[in-house]
Amino acid sequence: MTSHSVNDIEFRSVSKSYGAVTAVSDINLQVPKGAFVALLGPSGCGKTTCLRMIGGFEQPTTGDVLINGKPMNGVQAHQRPVNMVFQQYALFPHFNVEQNVSYGLRQARPKISAPEISRRVAEALEMVRLGGFGKRRIHEMSGGQQQRVALARALVNKPSVLLLDEPLAALDKKLRTAMQIELQTLQRELGITFVLVTHDQEEALSMSDLVCVMNAGRIVQLAAPQEVYDKPRDLFVADFVGKTNRMAATVEADGATLRLADGSALSIGERSALPPGAVTLALRPEAITLHRQNQSISGRLSGVVTHRIFLGSSVEYSVSVNGLGNFLITADRHVLSESSLVEPNERVVLSFNPDAAHIFPA
Ligand code: ATP
Repeated sequence: MTSHSVNDIEFRSVSKSYGAVTAVSDINLQVPKGAFVALLGPSGCGKTTCLRMIGGFEQPTTGDVLINGKPMNGVQAHQRPVNMVFQQYALFPHFNVEQNVSYGLRQARPKISAPEISRRVAEALEMVRLGGFGKRRIHEMSGGQQQRVALARALVNKPSVLLLDEPLAALDKKLRTAMQIELQTLQRELGITFVLVTHDQEEALSMSDLVCVMNAGRIVQLAAPQEVYDKPRDLFVADFVGKTNRMAATVEADGATLRLADGSALSIGERSALPPGAVTLALRPEAITLHRQNQSISGRLSGVVTHRIFLGSSVEYSVSVNGLGNFLITADRHVLSESSLVEPNERVVLSFNPDAAHIFPA
């Protein structure tokens, strides 16, 4: 890629070590202009380090970070066309909302006129639905409102890239969901690139155009949310993104039959031939259908319901299957053929389409 790149952000073989700790290892990443990308992964996988290298708060140990096609080596954080919203908001508690939001503009050189600053602050506060809150002190604002102030402060500079480090972590679930929708709407309206760090897979799937799944300092999968969910690259992604039932199995010599741990066979004939040997099957909870035993289903697996979790529109069942362990099944209440819920201790039959199972090397 050259300076004509359409990528807003690019990582070229980027590694970052802190002494003996390798936080990020040989990352290559391209984020198109105007994309909403989520860096998703467990604690310590290197998400924040990546974000901080884009923001200029850390320098790569090796490799290059480019923004808008330009290498950022040696470019200070405040000189980058980037702004960051921190998890702890980092607001000035003794300033009011307006003063917090306008802080960066007041420091700008050449100077920006006072009416222009007021106009831009008002515009930024409107964007985050805080119009009229300008004179409030920070300690008079709720957690969600403080988050919006932090967001307005980052947007007021009109950055081309907005970096968000777990920005919704401190909010309650309802507010978080509302803010997710708002952030997504805002990103579409502004058309600027958003890079979100989160360990919340629902947040990553629901908000972003691209999910970058990380583990142990590396990118494991970079794809659209649906692809990450439907076609996880490996068992780590299948487990981390969404819920997964795992089954140990062996591919038989014909490459088309799987022998499960309980001795039963499963035909996967439609698939391209698999090399014989041990594999792990991953099956989403919603890919399994649960039937009452008295229904005339020639189901593959029979078991006993151990737990039932009522979730409103759906129900989660934990089913103990002889020889195969516990299975999690999500049943949409309106799709269930039974009028009543299946009770714990009831014997049930589980069926699934073998095509829905992901097969990974054991
Ligand atoms: P979390 O979700 O917990 O914030 P993360 O995925 O953002 O985690 P990073 O903060 O990027 O992870 O950290 C990656 C690794 O680098 C971790 O092992 C962490 O302990 C280590 N690390 C991060 N910053 C430093 C530092 N300043 N000094 C030493 N080690 C660090």
